[in-house]
Amino acid sequence: MLKAVLDIVFPPVCLLCGERALKKGFCEGCAGLIEKERITTPICTICGIPFISPRGVDHACGKCVEEPPSFSAARSAFVFEGKVLDAIHKLKYGGDTSVAAPLANLVSGSIGGHRPCLVVPVPLHAGRLRERGFNQSLLIARELSRIISLPLIYNRLKRTRDTGQQVGLKALERKKNVSGAFTLVEPGSFKGKKVLLVDDVVTTGATLNECSKVLKRAGAVVVAITVARAVKL
Ligand SMILES: [Zn+2]
Ligand SMILES: [Zn+2]
Repeated sequence: MLKAVLDIVFPPVCLLCGERALKKGFCEGCAGLIEKERITTPICTICGIPFISPRGVDHACGKCVEEPPSFSAARSAFVFEGKVLDAIHKLKYGGDTSVAAPLANLVSGSIGGHRPCLVVPVPLHAGRLRERGFNQSLLIARELSRIISLPLIYNRLKRTRDTGQQVGLKALERKKNVSGAFTLVEPGSFKGKKVLLVDDVVTTGATLNECSKVLKRAGAVVVAITVARAVKL
């Protein structure tokens, strides 16, 4: 009742364009443009990269066959373009944390048949966290954990050194840059657990892979989910 009254007095506005929205989050126009970026099959069954041809079935890509990653599967809801890029930038650099919940809502549809039992965000280094004031991956992971009713574990996977900005680095440099940058507190608690590892954007997968490596070493199986993937279709 109160919500209905508040919606009339203060109608929700789109977090991206300021137009009137039907519900908290994005207006119909922006939501439609975000959906246009959704990644659909055919994709790599392991890393989730979309294949160029719209026809065909899901299968493992050459890169995953050659060098299998430490996660059992990685999925991204959207291509990192257009309104999706705007939304993530607004959250990450604009500090508009209210974008996290509607984004997580849209991402939950891309988890598919994977059945995790814990939600773990990719951590920020303490220095970076102080600078930004929040970890965007944690905000998204927290909403996701609510939506899928799973416990959120955000203080056991740690980034032990500041890996700086990965933007502009090539695949091999990214891999070297994050190598050995993560550690687990109470690794025994992850034994036999299926972890949903959450990040905002995946580019080469180096960070997801490095986090998965320490989780796998502790006996966990990792399914990674990101809001977006930086690829051109
Ligand atoms: Zn809008
Ligand atoms: Zn792959």
